[in-house]
Amino acid sequence: MPKLKIGILALQGAFAKHEEMLKTLGVDTILVRTPADLSLCDALVIPGGESTTIFRQINFIQLDEPLKQFAGQKPIFGTCAGLILMSKEVIAYPSIQTLGILDIAVERNAFGRQAESFRTELTVSVSPRETFLFPSVFIRAPRIRQCTHNVKVLASYDNEPVLVQQGNHLGASFHPELTSSNLIHKYFLSLVKKRV
Ligand code: GLN
Repeated sequence: MPKLKIGILALQGAFAKHEEMLKTLGVDTILVRTPADLSLCDALVIPGGESTTIFRQINFIQLDEPLKQFAGQKPIFGTCAGLILMSKEVIAYPSIQTLGILDIAVERNAFGRQAESFRTELTVSVSPRETFLFPSVFIRAPRIRQCTHNVKVLASYDNEPVLVQQGNHLGASFHPELTSSNLIHKYFLSLVKKRV
């Protein structure tokens, strides 16, 4: 089987760290900056950064429709700002336009400002028989305020979901690429392999 090609949206934000982590898992990576780049990918990671800036650039290069179509066929993993962009709705100020891929409503920056960034160990359950501890980093992170019944919660913090799955898509409020563990990326790749 040819190597998987995992795209990383590289318009702004923490895309380089995702690239490093995916390389430790033996897949090919593609930095996505155009619709043509996207068309080469088996799956896509949308990194953290500044969701308003990333969305403006998505619109500027007319990547919004290709991204929505891609989501209908292939897995996407959004982290922090990426999760915000994948949400159906951003509640409370400052609201922004999103891609509407995950049936969740999020509140931006609701875990506090940059200075209130924190690390914590999460218990992640990807199936009833597979649970692991994950060292997570939250930076101006969004809170998931609502999710529908078709969204599976894989990890919570303070009784609120912080890692969710809907079909082949994954969304994290935190930054799994900034830790020493690649287990969440590995889980995402297992979803991609099932799909391919
Ligand atoms: N607060 C940022 C936003 O709303 C996300 C922060 C992050 O990705 N670390 O876009």
